[in-house]
Amino acid sequence: MLNVGVDVGGTNIKFGVIDENGEILLQETIKTEPGRGSRAIVMSIIQGVGAILARTSLRHEDVTSIGIGIPGTVDSKNGVVVYAPNLFWRNVEIVKDIREAFNVPTYIVQDTRAAAWAEYLIGAGKGLRSVASVTIGTGIGCGMVFDGKIFHGALNTAGEFGHQIIDLDGNLCNCGRRGCLEAYAGGLAIVRDAKKRIPGIHKLLHTNPSTVGVHDVYQLAQEGNAQARELTDNVVKYIGMGLVNLINITSVDLISISGGISNAPSELLLDPLIDFVRNRAYESVADQVRICRSDLSEDAPLIGAALLFRETSDQTDSALAVSPGVGSQASQSS
Ligand SMILES: [Zn+2]
Repeated sequence: MLNVGVDVGGTNIKFGVIDENGEILLQETIKTEPGRGSRAIVMSIIQGVGAILARTSLRHEDVTSIGIGIPGTVDSKNGVVVYAPNLFWRNVEIVKDIREAFNVPTYIVQDTRAAAWAEYLIGAGKGLRSVASVTIGTGIGCGMVFDGKIFHGALNTAGEFGHQIIDLDGNLCNCGRRGCLEAYAGGLAIVRDAKKRIPGIHKLLHTNPSTVGVHDVYQLAQEGNAQARELTDNVVKYIGMGLVNLINITSVDLISISGGISNAPSELLLDPLIDFVRNRAYESVADQVRICRSDLSEDAPLIGAALLFRETSDQTDSALAVSPGVGSQASQSS
């Protein structure tokens, strides 16, 4: 049973042929080039799926499903990307074209939810009831699976973890509001603060100002730079507040962390983050909730997208389940 996963990002589009256990058998990457417009990118996705199938000698009828992860708000039920700022997409219907091209059940979901789905099925959350997958990079997002179902929210905007307010009337966020977590602990915010608080940071790093990145701040902190260490301690505090809020509201079994922060040395970020949560979360859940680095890491959205078909096929009440895509009807009848 083979499935095709597609992980659409603002920079790259990843394609994978994935078996029912979530094993990636084959993977390809092409450039997204969002400036080409939605039509051209949808055509590239169709060509990319065709190309990776050709490499495996698989026929379309050998493929169980195609699943797509998108960085933005997605109406999974109707197969429409509502808003994807990195792609400059608004209300782009995508599932219909891809399903017609391959005559295979086709699903679409926000990439963070695809990642959470992968963690729930085959990652750190395997066997648990409720899983959240928090990605901390330039943006900060969260996918959630509750009782075996991906949680979308009434308007498909659930899990905007980075836009929870942690400081009323605080820093201006990219979303246009003030005080969002992302405006303090997102990659852009960390680099902005580092340039402000560590004068001549690029000289310390023997680079030019435009190339200073979050990993440089982590590196300086690791080397003992006091200001950099203060910045990473602040990141722990801000992300920690966000995680405590998430845990207190949802009571999830597990939170897996991926993105830049998970690549930093554990003693710098992940370990103090776990301590923060243990000390601050509501007492009865503080010791129980599991927090870990994602072992699927950057492959999680690709794998989760490819396994979206299981959201309906694993449910006994599939007809009533929150459908991950319009292709679910075909899935149920096949
Ligand atoms: Zn915001």
